Amino acid sequence: MMDHNHNGDFKLPPEIKFTKLFINGQFVDSVSGKRMESVDPRSGQVIAEVAEGDEADIDLAVKAAREAFDHGKWPRMSGFERGRVMMKFADLVEENIEELAALDSLDGGKLLSSGKIVDLPHCIHILRYYAGAADKIHGETLKLAGEYQGYTLQEPIGVVGHIIPWNYPSTMFFLKVSPALAAGCTMVVKPAEQTPLSALFYAHLANKAGIPDGVINVVNGFGHTAGAALSSHMDVDKISFTGSTETGRRVMEAAAKSNLKSVSLELGGKSPLIIFDDADLDMAVALARVAIFYNKGEICVAGSRVYVQEGIYDEFVKKAAESAQTWKVGDPFDPTVQQGPQVDKAQFDKVLSYIELGKKEGATLLTGGKPCGDTGYYIQPTIFTDVKEDMKIAQDEIFGPVMSLMKFKTIEEAIDKANGTRYGLAAGIVTKDLNIANRVSRSVRAGTIWINCYFAFDPGCPFGGFKMSGFGRDLGMHAINKYMQVKSVVTPLHSSPWL
Ligand code: NAD
Repeated sequence: MMDHNHNGDFKLPPEIKFTKLFINGQFVDSVSGKRMESVDPRSGQVIAEVAEGDEADIDLAVKAAREAFDHGKWPRMSGFERGRVMMKFADLVEENIEELAALDSLDGGKLLSSGKIVDLPHCIHILRYYAGAADKIHGETLKLAGEYQGYTLQEPIGVVGHIIPWNYPSTMFFLKVSPALAAGCTMVVKPAEQTPLSALFYAHLANKAGIPDGVINVVNGFGHTAGAALSSHMDVDKISFTGSTETGRRVMEAAAKSNLKSVSLELGGKSPLIIFDDADLDMAVALARVAIFYNKGEICVAGSRVYVQEGIYDEFVKKAAESAQTWKVGDPFDPTVQQGPQVDKAQFDKVLSYIELGKKEGATLLTGGKPCGDTGYYIQPTIFTDVKEDMKIAQDEIFGPVMSLMKFKTIEEAIDKANGTRYGLAAGIVTKDLNIANRVSRSVRAGTIWINCYFAFDPGCPFGGFKMSGFGRDLGMHAINKYMQVKSVVTPLHSSPWL
């Protein structure tokens, strides 16, 4: 492995310090003693063996979280106190920012440069946003019919299971954990089996910040064992899941068959980017490139379907091909690189098989389409033209650097096509015409619409899906509600002056 120079006080690649499960404030081996491998996608080589949790470990973690919820101080502290501890946690993450970003690069193939300047600062921002929100959670007072008054209490929902994917290990951790902490919940986090390393580091930092034992537990393991055990556990009150639509369905089934726990699902997408004739062409090409190739296309909101209006289509195709060819693929630790390797062999094979399918379906391969280099899971930025709406490459989430480029004539056609998949996670619109922007943003059925921008995330801006992209919102004050229960308290009111 390479040893790059950098400014931090540790060597790259980073040392892997935490490889056990984190249960009730302690790093522990799994009950079975089993360990699972974590692989460097630059080489396919094993970089660490991490304790592999299954049903027995999930049970221990849920017991710890249950005890911390039912009898511990975290849910009973004032919101202000919880917020102070969360601020400390955020400071500790900030102190270790480069090492944490490097861990995600090492087992997820993510760019170190983006990790340091985009992902980790975003995580810290999320944690501070919810730390600030913790003492602003309140119910309402109600004047009821007859001689009654009422008020509502916002109570934490209880023990939460967070099941997260591998494409944004750090962001997903904080997107889930931060609002749940602010609400006063306790939790078990099940990171993706491909990317367990940073979550364990976060458990250590949470503990150092003073988050009490049992409040945050981290159990690595596979989905069909650890994930399934968490979603079917009788003592878990809520599952907050991010991952594929197929797995989301399984999580819901498990919740239905066990204790009818509350579920929220952030699922897949096949997001359209719609570019109108009046767009600034160079800006639109640059946006389309970032929207699909950033993070090697492993983004739920990737702009994988690009619709370009007929007046600029031919010019756009030419420029998009040129721009894809200058997008630099390589080692994610190299600061000049724009795209690292796909997360693992399975994902690499899946993306390449979709590229073959696209060719078989009759789409034209404009550029890319091949692996890069001899080792690791690198794939060229790929663009298909002549894509028809009913092709699998236009309907399925590929989750890789593959753009389907399509032409449209009218605004109505663009809206119809944008809405023509089972997904509804995000959409982008590029136009200078405010009327077009307003009409399209209200007509496309998706949880987030970006106008003349893409990937513009903020902790205060709710995020989630329509249709089969799921339900429930992460981020913003909406996310706090996912982790709360409303309780109504009613009392008779005698001789009130305002009856
Ligand atoms: P996945 O569904 O395979 O896995 C996600 C998580 O679920 C992992 O932790 C996995 O171990 C676990 N899991 C797998 N089977 C399970 C089961 N039977 N019961 C419980 N848990 C189980 O998804 P993935 O391949 O890791 O991630 C990619 C998917 O995630 C894509 O579809 C992508 O769009 C989606 N995603 C969505 C968002 C969003 O916010 N909407 C964000 C990132 C990724």
